[in-house]
Amino acid sequence: MTVDTLTPNAPTGSPLLTAKGVTKRFGGLTAVNDVDIHVNEGEVIGLIGPNGSGKTTLFDCLSRVQTPEEGSVQFRGQDITNKRPHKVAHLGLARTFQVIRVYRELTVLENLELSLQWKNVPMSKRMLRPGKAVTDKAEKLMDFLLLTRLRDDRAGALSGGQRRLLELGMSLMSDPKLVLLDEATSGVNPSLVEEIKDRIRTVNKELGISFLLVEHDIRFVKDLCSRVVVLNYGQKLAEGSPESIMENRAVIEAYFGADGDEESTVIDDGKVSS
Ligand code: ADP
Ligand code: MG
Repeated sequence: MTVDTLTPNAPTGSPLLTAKGVTKRFGGLTAVNDVDIHVNEGEVIGLIGPNGSGKTTLFDCLSRVQTPEEGSVQFRGQDITNKRPHKVAHLGLARTFQVIRVYRELTVLENLELSLQWKNVPMSKRMLRPGKAVTDKAEKLMDFLLLTRLRDDRAGALSGGQRRLLELGMSLMSDPKLVLLDEATSGVNPSLVEEIKDRIRTVNKELGISFLLVEHDIRFVKDLCSRVVVLNYGQKLAEGSPESIMENRAVIEAYFGADGDEESTVIDDGKVSS
């Protein structure tokens, strides 16, 4: 399986995204507290943590959907801490959302075409017919993501897994350097989870696109990620290889409570419920 119409990167392993001391408060609640996180070119990094630990809010700060109160975010050598979200997208940082955002009334093809237009075209021209190159790219991505037979179906009629694949496709239309995926497998049928994993791996290996992914399925994280960052109560609790994280006492306690003995942990055995 190739994705030959997209532009390959040649990852050098140098820093792509570097966030330092990121803090985001909502009133009296510190949702993200002094977090450092980095992604190098070519890496697939996991971001895990119990529900409410700040993963989505950190994504919001990195992609500039939210403005952090403190800290800095560098992307491709530029300070993006105060840049507008569309400028950040233009630099090559794409993201998906925990709550899937597709245009339900539009077809699969139209969703893909429109996602690219959002990036490159002024608001007044967004509803014009896309050029052939855009449609060709959308067709290739549909083929790669097993969506071709659903080309003319409304996105609102897709299954959860198909919509996740569509969202991945929409994020790839703009030739990003880094994709932030928020819960790419939640609500997805297990058979499609394997497909999603395989497609992320292929995009990473063949195109050099980096990923930072929030994921509850620990096996998914273990299979894809070289490094994992764990959040708890908005703070970074641990960072390391998937294997070291799964054996980390503090991480196990964060998921299962201080009394959680290792006999009862399911962290090595599929989904971590939270
Ligand atoms: P996670 O993605 O790890 O489940 P979130 O980032 O969604 O966690 O939430 C972290 C904390 O911030 C939670 O306590 C949540 O209720 C709170 N929170 C998130 N977004 C908002 C918001 N827009 N306004 C107020 N509180 C929020
Ligand atoms: Mg979340």
